[in-house]
Amino acid sequence: MLKKPNNFLLRQSHQVIYAVVLILLIPLAIILNTIWSVQSFQLNIDVSLQRQALMIGQFFDSTVYEGQDSQAEIQAKIKKIQNSGIAVRNFDILARDGEAFKIIASFDENKIGNSVDDLNYVISWHQNEAVATLVSNSISGTADSERLWEVVMPLKDAEGNKEALLSLRLSLKLIDDLVRETLTKSYIILAITVLIVILLLALNTRLFEHALLFKKLKEVDKMKDEFISIASHELRTPITTIKGFLSMAMEGDYGELNDIGKKGFRIMEASVNRLGALVDDLLNVSRIEQNRLTISPKVISLPEVLESIEAEFSLRMEEKGLKFKLTQEGELPTIWADEDKFRQILVNLMGNAIKYTKQGEIELIAKQTEPKFVTINVKDTGIGMDAKEREALFEKFYRVQTEDTRGIVGTGLGLWITKQLVELMGGKIYVDSIKHVGSQFYFTVPIYNKLIHKAAPPANNLSK
Ligand code: ADP
Repeated sequence: MLKKPNNFLLRQSHQVIYAVVLILLIPLAIILNTIWSVQSFQLNIDVSLQRQALMIGQFFDSTVYEGQDSQAEIQAKIKKIQNSGIAVRNFDILARDGEAFKIIASFDENKIGNSVDDLNYVISWHQNEAVATLVSNSISGTADSERLWEVVMPLKDAEGNKEALLSLRLSLKLIDDLVRETLTKSYIILAITVLIVILLLALNTRLFEHALLFKKLKEVDKMKDEFISIASHELRTPITTIKGFLSMAMEGDYGELNDIGKKGFRIMEASVNRLGALVDDLLNVSRIEQNRLTISPKVISLPEVLESIEAEFSLRMEEKGLKFKLTQEGELPTIWADEDKFRQILVNLMGNAIKYTKQGEIELIAKQTEPKFVTINVKDTGIGMDAKEREALFEKFYRVQTEDTRGIVGTGLGLWITKQLVELMGGKIYVDSIKHVGSQFYFTVPIYNKLIHKAAPPANNLSK
């Protein structure tokens, strides 16, 4: 029964927690990786652009600037630099003017002559070396700002004497735009990943629900099997007792019966027999499902069994006005089967053929069809079935529900049991049927082979 659902739930919920944690870690790892990569990329780029800004200054100092240049010559030279399209925003040459500095040449000619008092200028002038600072500037006309490297360095003449000061600003806008774009793309990828993760999570939850349902169904199925097994065992004993007393009463052991009494007892007998058959079917189902059905094969002569089956059913067929034909084609070899189970197969198929045939004929045919098998065919001219009705024919509890079958009692277990028995004995079962024409059920049973079957273990231990 429903014994260990808690353990199962616990195990399953561990799995779910594990999956959720794993699923959440993936986007987190992606975003951290992106942020770290972008940050380290930006740091490297900043350093290299700082070097670039310094190199521009040093290049100007050593190659372009000559100590004797007039103000006009310097202005012309930096104009050339400005026109080259370089990402330098400001480029000012300043001369010492008392404590402050005065712009003597610039990209922006309007600034020429302006006096500037800046701490970096003073530091650079006094320390006689370049000073690089990261500054930020708002871009005119927009709410954006751009980052720039500001480099201030003294300019020297051929003898190495400080003559002027260079101040330039190199824009980082291009690289910052690139970084921003990369980050935007990463966030989009992250959003997609999170979406996929949520879908996975939903799928995982459904899978979990299915697993739970499957487990419950299996447990319910097991409970049902156990119930059938116990119930049918418990029913068998009282049925046997009723049958015993009934037959004694019918034989007059308790006094002579009048006609009404005899009729009543016959009805009781038929009902008890039906109940007994049902209990036997249920017992067989539970034995087969619990692998408790043992097969004890032995050498069987077919004609004897077939003739005894004919004898068993002849009265019922006569009562229904059905003809019967037993056909044994050719020399029939002996077969290797469990006699009781083999008889039960034939009883089930013959019983159905009679039950579902209103008029006509039942034929029982036996012939060797394959080198190692004999085929037994039970043919009738009964109600027949169409392809759809035949679809689930060998499934447990399946019954065809049509006008033709109304009022015919049954459990839907006979064919399922029959198929299991045929297969347990190494054969196969087939059906052909045409609606309102008739049906034939045929199955194969192995032929006795001295070489193979001699080695078979003695009866009663060949279970499925
Ligand atoms: P039951 O006869 O107890 O209902 P079975 O498992 O023996 O159960 O058969 C399942 C169903 O197959 C039957 O309900 C019946 O509709 C159909 N069937 C079986 N044998 C025949 C037959 N010979 N002719 C027509 N229908 C059949």
